Amino acid sequence: MPMERTMPCYTCGTDEPHRQVKDDRERNVIRELKGLGPRAYVDEYWICVTTERDCRNIRTGHSWRPLHPPRKMPPETEPSEPS
Ligand SMILES: [Zn+2]
Repeated sequence: MPMERTMPCYTCGTDEPHRQVKDDRERNVIRELKGLGPRAYVDEYWICVTTERDCRNIRTGHSWRPLHPPRKMPPETEPSEPS
């Protein structure tokens, strides 16, 4: 089971629960956002799972703003975010 951890969320502006990247679809989303190769290690990324709003902001354990601009993890029912 992916762990959850409360950390500051850049787009929420408050401390919110985050979960770890849970599957290869999500790993590939992050690899694409970061321009990384298909085997790049991205398990240090966390996704905001606040119940306050549909946030899904992506951060790492060390940096609350690893992506410029901040990006959302797309939901599983959509192939990807429109560009
Ligand atoms: Zn958030």
